[in-house]
Amino acid sequence: MKLNSLKNCALILILLNLVSCSENDENIDTDEETTTETIEVPEVYSKIYGATSITSDGTYIFIKTDGTPDHKSVYYPTSSDLYEDFSGTTFEGYSFVKNPNTIATFDYTFKIPLNPTVATNHAATPLGAIGVSLNGVPLFNQYAGPNQPLTDEFKSFDQYWGHPTGNGTFHYHIEPLYLTTVTASKSALLGFLLDGFPVYGPEEDGEDVTGLDAYHGHSHATEDYPDGIYHYHITNTDPYINGNGYYGTPGTVTQ
Ligand SMILES: [Zn+2]
Ligand SMILES: [Zn+2]
Repeated sequence: MKLNSLKNCALILILLNLVSCSENDENIDTDEETTTETIEVPEVYSKIYGATSITSDGTYIFIKTDGTPDHKSVYYPTSSDLYEDFSGTTFEGYSFVKNPNTIATFDYTFKIPLNPTVATNHAATPLGAIGVSLNGVPLFNQYAGPNQPLTDEFKSFDQYWGHPTGNGTFHYHIEPLYLTTVTASKSALLGFLLDGFPVYGPEEDGEDVTGLDAYHGHSHATEDYPDGIYHYHITNTDPYINGNGYYGTPGTVTQ
């Protein structure tokens, strides 16, 4: 009798296994259907390593970030592991002067065209975020305020050439040194402007990029876009990232 009940138990266990297996299979099928319905995000956007999520609706790419740098900064609260006293050299050799602001966390959604196209009227870039860099920090334009040059801001850039605004919005107006010297390179893709066109570093084939157009870009094939694409280059002379407005039609950003 004991043997029989053991056998029965074993049978029941096997049956249970079969049932649970078929349930699992159903689950897998459901997952696969969901995956097929999701719009695929092109591989190139996975380079935005600071994003908390990247999705697409087939027309736009939605890049979510918290906007805080992954590098050390004198602008983190002193209690933060990422706080570090200023070291290194400021852009243009100014003596470093810390601004009174502290890095804050935000809830950014950068909504950029999946298939960027040239605009007929090249909209001026606004103050505030005009794009997103690989570590999720927003890119700002070449002005400190309405038509005010950046000159007075240089001295407050941290060792990786970023700084926060009065409400703690950390940003780069010029070359993001942490990306060009640590996590990417001087010739790598560094981010995207809101019009969806990619932003590259200051060098190409080991030399400083020259001959950019009024929007601070040009078109040719890149490692990420073998068929060629219009792209901006960050350089170390004004206007640094973008020139006279967006080359394409910008999406939006919420913070
Ligand atoms: Zn600034
Ligand atoms: Zn180029």
